Order: sequence, then structure tokens, then C-alpha cells
Amino acid sequence: MKTTTNSKAARYTTQKGRAAHSARPGRESLSKRLGVRVVRAIRARDGERCVYCGANAAQSGAHLHLDHITAKALGGSDCPTNLVLACRHCNGAKTSMTTRQWVAYAAATRGLTIDMRAIRAHARRIPAALRLAA
Ligand SMILES: [Zn+2]
Repeated sequence: MKTTTNSKAARYTTQKGRAAHSARPGRESLSKRLGVRVVRAIRARDGERCVYCGANAAQSGAHLHLDHITAKALGGSDCPTNLVLACRHCNGAKTSMTTRQWVAYAAATRGLTIDMRAIRAHARRIPAALRLAA
């Protein structure tokens, strides 16, 4: 299996270490915290494709990641309106860049044209009942 240095799984050398880390309060996986209904709604909204480059799960390697449009490190929330599907490549490259930095980086390194306004508008197309209370 191919791993990348910024893959979460790669940070833990043993499954036991990873499990212990995940068991700490507030450290359970994002999809677990959101719940299956919310994750399904995000996947359906995004058509099972990376919103940035259009890759599907097979092209991404295994599965698509949940990406914070505004990075957590920059104060982005876990509300589904701030979460989109992203492939391993895009999610791994974007890390905690600002959206402006990411758009410039993706254009320069991969020739991607990313319309952040359109992606934010798209991300808001989630049923109100599945959003986090603001
Ligand atoms: Zn992508």
C-alpha cells in the first residue's frame, strides 16, 4: 500500500498506537463525529468526486477524504457547509493553506482552475437539518 508522509495513518507505526490516539476525547474521526447521515449527504452532494480536480475514489487511491474548505487550523468549522470531498492528492496538498493560497498552488502545480466561490455555493447545498448550529 502506498502511503504519504501527511497521511494520518502514516503518523502511527502501530494500529494500537492509532487506536489509542483516536480514543482520546475529541480525537475520534471527523466522519464518526458527523455521523453516517451527514457523511452520506456530503458524498451525494459532491457526486462521489473530488470537488477540486474531479477524481473519483478509484483515481484517489482508495477513498475520498473530507476536506475543510476553510482549514480547521484557520478556524474552519466542521459544518457540512465547510466540508467537501477531496481526493488524496488535493487534500494532502491543500493542508492548512488559505483558499487563496490553494487556488494559486493548484493552478501553478497541476493546472487546475478552482472557483472557490462556486465550491462554497455548492457546499451550502446541504439540508438545513444536517448543518451544525452556528
Ligand atoms: Zn482532487
